[in-house]
Amino acid sequence: MTQTYENYIGGEWTGTGETQDVTNPADETDIVSTVPVGSAADADEAVAAAAGATDEWAGMSGPERGAILRETGEILKSRKDKLAETLTREEGKPLGEAEGEVQRAIDIFYYYAEKARDFGGTVKQPSGGRAGLQTKKEPMGVAALITPWNYPIAIPAWKIAPALAVGNTVVIKPAMQAPTVGAMIVEALDEAGIPDGAINLVCGPGSEVGERLTTHDDVDVVSFTGSASVGEHVYEQATSNGKRAQAEMGGKNPTVVMPSADVDKAADIVGAGAFGGTGQACTATSRAIVHEDVYDEFLDAVVDYAESLEVGNGLDRAGMGPHVSEDELAGSLEYVDIAQSEGATLETGGEELTGGEYDAGNFISPAVFADVESDMRIAQEEVFGPVLAVIPVSDFDEGVEVANDIDYGLSASIVTDRIEEENEFIERSESGVVKVNEKTTGLELHVPFGGLKRSSTNTYREQGDAGLEFFSYIKTVYRNS
Ligand code: NAD
Repeated sequence: MTQTYENYIGGEWTGTGETQDVTNPADETDIVSTVPVGSAADADEAVAAAAGATDEWAGMSGPERGAILRETGEILKSRKDKLAETLTREEGKPLGEAEGEVQRAIDIFYYYAEKARDFGGTVKQPSGGRAGLQTKKEPMGVAALITPWNYPIAIPAWKIAPALAVGNTVVIKPAMQAPTVGAMIVEALDEAGIPDGAINLVCGPGSEVGERLTTHDDVDVVSFTGSASVGEHVYEQATSNGKRAQAEMGGKNPTVVMPSADVDKAADIVGAGAFGGTGQACTATSRAIVHEDVYDEFLDAVVDYAESLEVGNGLDRAGMGPHVSEDELAGSLEYVDIAQSEGATLETGGEELTGGEYDAGNFISPAVFADVESDMRIAQEEVFGPVLAVIPVSDFDEGVEVANDIDYGLSASIVTDRIEEENEFIERSESGVVKVNEKTTGLELHVPFGGLKRSSTNTYREQGDAGLEFFSYIKTVYRNS
């Protein structure tokens, strides 16, 4: 049951000495995997291997690279059950959510396999008697990818696949809370026949391995997803060292509920957005901004939603799994205290669950706070847990203002039956993703994803064609031959 992974550098699995056990957050006695605790020296080796492989990988044709990505997707598909189970065991989310995430990773590899074939430039009409005028797309070189634990297979996939599709070589550093399924992607690429050095994996602490990757002279492009504080630091480090960089960071995502909405439907939308993945999603709904005419009715319905969720081990397909770690659990509990000290009313949940099987894991009951005001910390700071703040507003304008009254701008939604409100909300929402009558979580892989304000450096987007743009540059060719 315990898998062992080493770092993967230059086509070899290599041991580094020190290792770390990755345990199941629902059951600390379950050791999911043992992974290396890599160092800056490992990062250096991996970057050297990646730099040494750029000519070979970039020199292959797009269809050849695409064939390897497609085969990787096939291998992941053949291991879907194992991947989903491993994901649940290391991150905690219920098996159904893990299966969806693994399928997402498979689809991402298929999608970028096709994009690799298509990726190219354009031919333009030349002037001045020239024989040709065209654009070519070129890979950036060596890509360093730094990923969080909360989508431990989808996020590595949505960075690795486009980076490789356009001919970059890659060093990936996954988060140490849940590195196993990311390592399983690298294993699949290896088995699919990727040339040595084109993909490299270094597990290890961000403060050492991550720091080295973001400052290394031979890294050309850095793609980071994680918290705002680390992301801002990574972006500053990378860009001041001359690299192209993107940092996708946290959120404090609102759903505005208007009186024309079906209130039960609105509560289902908000509940699913707030408590899916134990609220550990950058796009999680953490603020319900509710018109006063339906506030009480909505509050009752969302409390019912929270109380109907069975909290337990994700392998048993519980309604909500544990926090990924004791630290994350402690963070949510602290915000429950902060909210109460600020004067918000705890309607339900917010308690550490103990006794029986709960004693072996990091479980909390989903929390709903009423009487929240927009300037409270519970309405302004990312909790990254199943803690929902419900804020009353007196009209649509106030709803939009409160939705925008925040340092983050990742995903926002409105639940309404009025087309004018839909349109105006889409116009005025200060967020990278806007949704109507949908939860703030959940993404399509073929459209751009990213945020505004502290949610993103907002220089490039991820996913879809935007993923390819970030990992490539345009060369303009004039021919007078
Ligand atoms: P984190 O910022 O603690 O860590 C993210 C990654 O950065 C990890 O691999 C970590 O080891 C590494 N890291 C840490 N210090 C570093 C340093 N000094 N230099 C380089 N790398 C370093 O985030 P987390 O706890 O893993 O993930 C949760 C956060 O991620 C939340 O804030 C969430 O909102 C955000 N997130 C954002 C998105 C998005 O697309 N916007 C998606 C998922 C998660």
